[in-house]
Amino acid sequence: MIDVDDLLDLVRAYNPQTDADLIREAYSFGLAAHKGQFRKSGEPYFSHPIEVAALLAEVKLDDATIITALLHDTIEDTGATYKEIDTKFGDEIAQLVDGVTKLTNLELSSVETAQAENFRKLLLAMSKDVRVLLVKLADRLHNMRTIKSMPGDKQRKKAHETMEIYAPLAGRVGMQYIRDELEDLCFAVLNPDARNSIMRRFITLRAETGNLIPVIIEDIGKALARHDVLAQVTGREKRPYSIWRKMEETGQGFHRLSDIYGFRIITKNERDAYIALGAVHQRWKAIPGRFKDYISQPKTNGYRSIQTTVSGRDAKRVEVQIRTHEMHIVAESGVAAHWAYRDGERFKNPFAVDPFHWLRGLIDGFENAENPNEYLEHVKLEMFQDQVFCFTPKGAVINLPRGATPIDFAYAIHTRIGDSCVGAKIDGKRVPLWTRLRNGQSVEIIRADSQRPQPSWEDMVVTGRAKSAIRRSLRDEHKAGHIRLGAEIARVALGKIGKKATDKALSTAAKNMGLGSKDDLLAQIGTTQVTGNDLAMALYPELLKKSEVKGEKPAAEVVGLKEGQSHIPAKCCKPLPGERIVGIIARGRGVVVHTIDCDALEAYEGEPDNWIDLRWTEGMSTATHNTTIEIIMANDAGVLGRICTLIGEHNANIADIHFTDRKPDFYRIMVDMQVRNATHMMHIRTAIEADADIASVIRYRNPKNNR
Ligand code: MN
Repeated sequence: MIDVDDLLDLVRAYNPQTDADLIREAYSFGLAAHKGQFRKSGEPYFSHPIEVAALLAEVKLDDATIITALLHDTIEDTGATYKEIDTKFGDEIAQLVDGVTKLTNLELSSVETAQAENFRKLLLAMSKDVRVLLVKLADRLHNMRTIKSMPGDKQRKKAHETMEIYAPLAGRVGMQYIRDELEDLCFAVLNPDARNSIMRRFITLRAETGNLIPVIIEDIGKALARHDVLAQVTGREKRPYSIWRKMEETGQGFHRLSDIYGFRIITKNERDAYIALGAVHQRWKAIPGRFKDYISQPKTNGYRSIQTTVSGRDAKRVEVQIRTHEMHIVAESGVAAHWAYRDGERFKNPFAVDPFHWLRGLIDGFENAENPNEYLEHVKLEMFQDQVFCFTPKGAVINLPRGATPIDFAYAIHTRIGDSCVGAKIDGKRVPLWTRLRNGQSVEIIRADSQRPQPSWEDMVVTGRAKSAIRRSLRDEHKAGHIRLGAEIARVALGKIGKKATDKALSTAAKNMGLGSKDDLLAQIGTTQVTGNDLAMALYPELLKKSEVKGEKPAAEVVGLKEGQSHIPAKCCKPLPGERIVGIIARGRGVVVHTIDCDALEAYEGEPDNWIDLRWTEGMSTATHNTTIEIIMANDAGVLGRICTLIGEHNANIADIHFTDRKPDFYRIMVDMQVRNATHMMHIRTAIEADADIASVIRYRNPKNNR
């Protein structure tokens, strides 16, 4: 096991100013926290965090990242708490450790291959600080290096997950060496036969041709010398997995592949890089279509390099990468290069991308669309920044826009699930349906088949899919409700004159009134566009006296207005004669009349000059006033009809009825009606309340609906 001095030596080599005391403290803290825990290999558990820290020291990362690596499993696996780490090591480190813990928790959810892309996005989206992701990648690399001590099925599961998720992620943040090694470690677990056969091929090839690598390095060195370029040339056999992938992609056999060897020319400066390219192309033939200049057009993750493939010795194809030393660091360690230290200084590598800037850039949109590939890559990344990714109980990932609620989630799975949603659990806890979902949460929808979408849901959802499904359902529901109500009103209206509302009678009436069908007629009666009286008239005009002409509606008089002031009732409280009122001068709209106890008045407390004392004119007025009552009633045939009849018997008009809530046993409806005054309203209310099937009747007020 690496001890703390070994680790400090590693760190001091690139960062003499390191806070050794803090690293020692983190080491002791982690050692104590993991005391008594062992890895599958039998080693003390703490050997793992130290190795992860050492891996990150190799990329020359800052103290905060090294300490986070030492502590990365303490919150998850030991008694240590966020608060403890915050107190001892500060909030930067506490937040980093917390971030790694969250990513670790996600691992516990099983992931199907088809979900891999979403899962990668989720991990990126959750890693607000890229250092969290870097620690997680190093963690995974060490776990994969030591995977042999796991049971076989677990090895395959982890290798699969790593191949699908972590290796591509390492590539995305530009940590190429981690990506290559992860892929090869997975390859060894997932397809050992294929890997062995490639290894054997290398051995045969070396036996046939000798080791070509030093020979080619020398050739390249000579070509460079002729152009006076001093550079470091290296060569290597490519990793078995990368050869395997090429063979699969191109369908070519091992011998025909050009990608068996890779060579690298590291120059002192950019000018030399281009001279080196010229030297290589002059000496060997370039293979068309294999030349890429990522120095003049770097990738978004900061990668810069010239890549070319040439036809080398014995017509063997050889891939060559050319770049400067600084570009090389970025090419190998990607965004990590930003934190890298050299000689005790935060090493300002001009090619390192600022990771915060990089992540933010994904959000802000991409102005520089010169390189279409880069743009595409960018768009793919950008898409998830305003999204959240949540899990179904079975581990599938559902991808939603930010601000989405469990209702959006339910509709994203299936319309039927959305329609019948009655509640939700997030990470096992009951939550209100308006709760905004966050990344990585596991969401369970609670359903009841009798449930219907609620009008209030429309304001809770953000996805178009949920919105249109809710509207469609409400429209159908609304109409069905009106038809039911219309049927009741029709029954009562015709009953009064001793007739029955048979299907035949209703169809005839619809035809007489020029309406499409019986249901259209009933819906119109239900919405009071057609009255019960109209219906009776259409069928039995001889039985009815002409109904009296609707009296025109004189404005209700209030006392206290100044000359020329006009008044309108406030929509929030809809005041009625008999109630205490007050007027608020609203510029351009005259005087708005509120009841004295209206909550909306609070908004005007600071403007006493705009308040006017008003009272209703004494005496009887025939004018009617709009008001709304909210009724909670049993879901029972006939109740609606009785209510409408009661209201009609009290000589009030129903302007509209809407359903706001439909539970299996109860309905909540709002009835807009016209009454003469407060007493009139109270009589109606009392009459309705007296019905055994009515749970409550309240005067509906909506302070938000202020005017
Ligand atoms: Mn770990």
